[in-house]
Parts: sequence; C-alpha cells; structure tokens
Amino acid sequence: MALPLRGASRSTVLRSRYIPRQQLTCYPSCRRTLFNLFRKPQVKAKEPAPILSQDNLFHPLSKSPFPPVRVRAEAIKKLAACPVCAAEHSHLHAHTKAQPKAVSFECPDCGWPTHCSEEHWDQDEEHAKYCGRLREVNEDEHDLRSGRKIREFELPGPQDSETAISFANWDVFWYTRGFPSMDTERSRRHASKLLTYPITIGSVLHEHSYLTLNNQRLTPEGSRSLAALRTTLHVPPGAPETEEASATKPEVRIFILGARAESSLPAHVWEQLHMLFPAAILHIFFVGPQVSLPDFAKSKKNMKNPKYVPNIYNPPTPPPIPVQKFTRQSIDRYNVPSYTTPYNHQLTITGMQANYVDVHAQFQETFDPYTDCFFLFNPGFGFPSPYSTDDAGNALLQIASPTEWGPVVPLLLATKCPIFVTGFSPADVERDVRSLSTAPGVAGEFDWVVTPGPNAFGSEKWEVNDFDPRVMLKLNWGIWGIRGQRRDIREKSSFSSIFS
Ligand SMILES: [Zn+2]
Ligand SMILES: [Zn+2]
Repeated sequence: MALPLRGASRSTVLRSRYIPRQQLTCYPSCRRTLFNLFRKPQVKAKEPAPILSQDNLFHPLSKSPFPPVRVRAEAIKKLAACPVCAAEHSHLHAHTKAQPKAVSFECPDCGWPTHCSEEHWDQDEEHAKYCGRLREVNEDEHDLRSGRKIREFELPGPQDSETAISFANWDVFWYTRGFPSMDTERSRRHASKLLTYPITIGSVLHEHSYLTLNNQRLTPEGSRSLAALRTTLHVPPGAPETEEASATKPEVRIFILGARAESSLPAHVWEQLHMLFPAAILHIFFVGPQVSLPDFAKSKKNMKNPKYVPNIYNPPTPPPIPVQKFTRQSIDRYNVPSYTTPYNHQLTITGMQANYVDVHAQFQETFDPYTDCFFLFNPGFGFPSPYSTDDAGNALLQIASPTEWGPVVPLLLATKCPIFVTGFSPADVERDVRSLSTAPGVAGEFDWVVTPGPNAFGSEKWEVNDFDPRVMLKLNWGIWGIRGQRRDIREKSSFSSIFS
C-alpha cells in the first residue's frame, strides 16, 4: 500500500480554525493523570535530568526507587500463591499437605515475587515461559517513572485535510495521524496503552475502519448499522470534512458503560477521538459505579498516594480527574453524581457515577441508530458474579446476574443501536461470547455486527495479575459487536431506508 505523504502541505488555515495552539501539543496534564502514574514533574524552563537512565530500568520490585512499585510488590506477596507449592498440593491429599505458601522470593531475572523460596524458584521449569514478559513489564514500569520526557504522550493536532487516516494497524495510524515516530517496542507499548480506548472506538466507527465485509469482521447487518452512524459522523463523499460541515449535524452519542480507567483519561486524550471526525459533534458518556469524577472540592488529599488496590478484574475506581475550565456538576440534570465538560464546541464529555439501569430511563426515548452507540471495555460478561447466585447456590455469570450486566444488556438491545465489546485475551473474548447464549433476554435476541476477533488498536502492554503474576493480559485485546434483532422492518422512515 502506498502511504500518502504528509508534512509538506499541513494546512495552517485548517489548524487555526480549531482550538488555540497551546492545546494542540505538549500535554503536561497527561503525565499527572494517566492512571495516576505521573506525579507532577518539576515545571522548570530546563528539562529535569531523568531519575533513571535508560540502561538502569531493571530493579527487583521490592528494591524499586519508586514507592508505588514497592507497594505493589508487597501486595502481590500477600495475594499470590507459589506455583510449585500449589502443584505439590494438588498432587497429594489435601489433609497431608499445608496450603501453598505465598510468593516471597523475587526472581533475579524479572524482579517479580514469583515463588515461596529460591528452592522452589529453581525447581520451576515453567517460569522461563513468562519470565521475559515479566521483565519487560518491570522495565516499562520503571521507564514510565524514570523522569525522561515521554514523547510518546505528545499528541498531534487536527488532521491535515489532505491526508487520509489509515486504521490498518497502530503503525500506519500513528504515521498518517502525524504522531512522533514510535522507534522502540517500549514506545509502542506506552502509546498504545494511552490511546487504546479512544482509538478503538474511532477505528470501529470510522469510514476507513479495518473491520470490513471483505475480511468478514463486519456482517451485512453490521454494515447497515455503521452506515447509519457514518452518515452522521462523516460528510457525503467528495465533500470536505470540516468543522463547518458539523453545523447542521446532530450530536453523536457514545455511551461507555462500566467505565473505569477510561473515565480518568485526560480530556485531551479523548479529543484524539474527535480529531478523527472533524465534521462531527461528539458527546461521550461514561456511565458506571466506578466512573472517575472531578475533584470539585479540590481536596488535594484524594489526589495523593491513593491506597494500592489489586488490579485487572476488579480494578479500583480511578482517582478524581482534574476540573477543566468549563466542567460543571450535572447532578440536577441526571440525578446521580455527575459532571459535564464541554471540552470544545464539537466535543462534550459527561461522566455519571451510577449503574446504567438507574439512568437508562432518561435516555430511553431518545436512542437512534443514526446517532448512538455503546462501548463496553473488558466487561467480563462470562465471569462469575461475586454477588449473585442461582437457586442452587452457584455464582451466576455476570451477563445474567442482576447485580452486574443482567438487566443492562436487554435494555441496550432494545435500542437497536450497536453495542461493541472488548476483551483481555482470546480466552476472555470466547468466555464472554459463549455467555451470550446463556443469558435470558440476550440469547436469540441479537444480530452480529462485528465478528469476534483481535482488535488492531488494543494495548500492546502486558498487564500483570497481582493474584497470579503468571497471568498476563492486554487491555482491549479483542473486539466484537452486536445489536438488537429487528423484527419489525417498518420502523421510522429514516431508519427503514438503510435497515430494510
Ligand atoms: Zn513454594
Ligand atoms: Zn523471572
């Protein structure tokens, strides 16, 4: 594929119609809020010297120069069991052997606590399979905190109108969007983790999506669903994608349900999603009990050293997000703890800290497949509920559980708007997809929009499970999509033209 040239004709006219220059590049706030990793660096004219040099990124976790890393090591030592003890335990009668011991020995090669003792570490031939990945994560974590200037997080301004964005993969995406070049695998991991949420959405909805009928990731039903949304997101063929074209367009609403870390991403990272659709007006809604709200009281206390909470499947509510210039409380509008940030005149972000079932009624009458869609990032449909059991006392799967997704998915299907879902791994995606066939109000009630498979815009960084460091996952590894089955093909006139 021939890549279009870029750079020579970047349109300063186009750029000047947008927000001020200082908002386009250089994002110190990103360091402060990205998953709370970046304590505010010293703001001085000169760049501070890095704390760690690039050849000094490996440290056993318990000896890390960074307190949050040491705290995590302590947490893992309490939570994870030695795999060699565990194997012995399962081979013998339970009553003849003590429970597996916790991990307290740190592997000298990866620096993670992995076994109860040096002896068991030495015996374990399996560890070599994941030691390399663990070492990679160790160095990534220290690199993020090393104090070097993280160029990967410098985000480009509006798209050059003469360059088409490609969504084939991260590399061509970054290239065609004018990101700084990602020269190392580590840079790719950092940048892909920062951008996976907005760009996963953009890559699905955009007219140049890699999910197509040809590669069978898109179904004919899905093609119709996305065609409807794209009439609102884009301009007619041949017309320029400009801000002016948005004047007559309705708002496109993207509902992100069960939002957690994604709700604490800085608004300028979400602006990257809008920059893919210069002619659209976007409203992003984060809804979920773990949505991060702005710290209106500006109590610094909350922002500092939040207690470490174990990760991945039950991650903690992210720390409060900074209050933007126009952020306002929205509790009067939505009747739940909430905020709205009109980030610019084409992008609004609303967060609601609530269960979706409690706010659905406010939107129920307004859903329209031409303007609305849902995204559920790593929702764990196929995981057992920690709260709800069936009559026999077995844990319900979360997709069928009244305390998790049970009441939600049928409501979403009833809107006929597309629902896109991501998963951590092939096994996670398969577990979630299988669970669809077991859930009342879901099984037999949906059509496929996007067939299950890898997400080209997943995070490339490994996330290590604190409960078992052998388990490593990637955020948004896979993606698929469904929508409610349409029985009545004669609905609204605007609707039937595309859906009949
Ligand atoms: Zn052991
Ligand atoms: Zn190791």
